[in-house]
Amino acid sequence: MAKMTKRHAPQVEAGVTRCPACGSSSRTAYFAVTAQEHGGISPDGKPYTHIVRRRTVCRNCGQHRVDRCYENRVKPTDAEKSS
Ligand SMILES: [Zn+2]
Repeated sequence: MAKMTKRHAPQVEAGVTRCPACGSSSRTAYFAVTAQEHGGISPDGKPYTHIVRRRTVCRNCGQHRVDRCYENRVKPTDAEKSS
């Protein structure tokens, strides 16, 4: 059996998004996910390199929305690109 060194990775809360129309957090699976390369400072004061937008539909009232989040990504190495 191959030995793998598994480092403990803490889990971090990313938050739950809600429907702007009815406030429900129940939604369909994300679709039309896009990542736009755009640097700046997020609303909570953290630097970011990408704006990620995910479309979803509220399961309660059918309202479409885009869940937007900010990610600070480093450029992938060649090894990561090929995987
Ligand atoms: Zn709704």
